Amino acid sequence: MPEMNYMRKLSRWTLTDAADAGQLLAITCQYCNTTHCYKPRDLLQFRDNMSLDRLVSKFRCERCNRRDYMHLRVHHPNGADFGKLVIRRLVNVKTVEVPVWEDATL
Ligand SMILES: [Zn+2]
Repeated sequence: MPEMNYMRKLSRWTLTDAADAGQLLAITCQYCNTTHCYKPRDLLQFRDNMSLDRLVSKFRCERCNRRDYMHLRVHHPNGADFGKLVIRRLVNVKTVEVPVWEDATL
């Protein structure tokens, strides 16, 4: 079961480990077959360091809005990737204010 072994490896590999190794994270929605590559250091600017098997559950597909078909693959960039591979770079982190309500007596 290669997929199960791969997921076990991801549970022992963190965002920091991937960043230190110079790896990219390819996140694919297996429902609509959309893939985006991210630099781990970009994700560490707004996420705590976590194992990669947990990280994949934080993603939602921007195309079909599903989150249960997301799959993460670690990618080692090689010479052919430079100048060709499209990656998603973090431009800004936007903070959203959400009202929090509670029921109280008058
Ligand atoms: Zn999708």
